[in-house]
Amino acid sequence: MTGSTPNPVGSMSSGQNMPTQQVTVISRLVSFVIYCAPRDDHGLNPMYTTLYGGDDRHTGVTDSASYLNNMPYVIVDADTKKVIYPTPSSHKEFEKIQSVSSTNTLRDGQRKMHALPPIHIPDDVSRIALHIANDSFHYSRTFQLFPWTVPDVAHSKVHIYELRSDLRERFSSQNHLPNPSDNTLAAKPGAAAEYFGYLDGDLWLRISHEFTDSDITRLCPPETISRNLLAGASQANPLAGVHPQTTPVQQEALGGMAPHADGLHAYVGPITGAPVISAPTPAPTAQPSVVGSVEQVHVDWLATLAPIYAAGEGSRSMAPFTIEIGDMAITLAFISRALANAINTSTNTTIQQALRRTSPRTFAAILRAAWRLHIDKLSLSSSWRPMLGSRLHKMGVGLDVTEIDDSVDHVNFTIHNHSHADRGHAFPQGSGGQKLARLYQELNGDSEVMHGAVYTPWVNWVEPHDTHMHITVKDE
Ligand SMILES: [Zn+2]
Repeated sequence: MTGSTPNPVGSMSSGQNMPTQQVTVISRLVSFVIYCAPRDDHGLNPMYTTLYGGDDRHTGVTDSASYLNNMPYVIVDADTKKVIYPTPSSHKEFEKIQSVSSTNTLRDGQRKMHALPPIHIPDDVSRIALHIANDSFHYSRTFQLFPWTVPDVAHSKVHIYELRSDLRERFSSQNHLPNPSDNTLAAKPGAAAEYFGYLDGDLWLRISHEFTDSDITRLCPPETISRNLLAGASQANPLAGVHPQTTPVQQEALGGMAPHADGLHAYVGPITGAPVISAPTPAPTAQPSVVGSVEQVHVDWLATLAPIYAAGEGSRSMAPFTIEIGDMAITLAFISRALANAINTSTNTTIQQALRRTSPRTFAAILRAAWRLHIDKLSLSSSWRPMLGSRLHKMGVGLDVTEIDDSVDHVNFTIHNHSHADRGHAFPQGSGGQKLARLYQELNGDSEVMHGAVYTPWVNWVEPHDTHMHITVKDE
């Protein structure tokens, strides 16, 4: 414990016409320490096990414990909203969380831990608050996290415990703490100048922004995308390889030409943004058109992604569900428990709230690449999630793909390596592995995808990507 004793560093007198009065000014420092949620699976969290035994249906933090490296944050004067850290002289929009270590002293298993540097609180500031994740960006600071009056002591320490909402009481009793109100800091019993608060799944819901219609339009403006028609698609054999989900309207728009056909897919390399060849004025809804061997579709992402953001209203179900992207004839299949982390770490989060916190760029990137490669079904295992693994899914810029299907070519490929020996090695040689190789290449050529941040169980493997491909899109 340092500095519970006031440390006067100066004094000032009041205004000229006022009676002279000495006011003690204390140089105040505040240190935040964030303790990330421990894993629930494999009996790693004794508090979870006490509550649910070996029942894994309620697990939330699995596979990869929560950590916050590189998570943006700012600390503000809670009253004026001015940023006090990073300091104005640094000219930084936000700071990033670093300095990770770990602890197992909180009776619920191993936790990653981040100590923020001590923050100097300017003399004219009485209350401070944090903004973290997307909420730290200068144009979107709407949710003050842990607004709190800084005590008049030289150095206060604030402990933030990330935990499941259903374990708050148990955590409190086992650690001899009161259960603080939502989004508040409470004094830590028996420790002078120490405070604590709970960062649960419901609080993450308030921190993390929904992507609104205007966000979608801004991040994913309408565009025309192109692909090569499949070899073998011809009027002589118009039904060759007709996509099972192709609607009559789309076939009509193609003048009887089937959008898919048997044979090798001709890959023409990544193309995003502008169309390859000029097209007639696009129809308001997506309808593929064909010029020569090139097929084009105009995509208004706000409309095309609407079925995703409309799904799961009021639902907290862990059952698998599918969303049809009619404009592109692609099925998105969310596997069982795909949103378990968002649901099980909170009391209230719904499927729709989790989906709406996932950047439209993630869905647009994977749909664009899939369409160009004639992939008509993608299985997804995770989108926005507040408390698992790195900052990427917490900020809604990550998406996990577990399976790809091309029903015409009978490619059904599960993105799962056979052993650790596959890590860092080339994609499998079969048609499915090569399809994934092209998908990987396509995504890496997409300007909206974060360069180098597509992880697979083979190429560009990093822990823990043995069972899915992770894609990261750019932050806002
Ligand atoms: Zn991921």
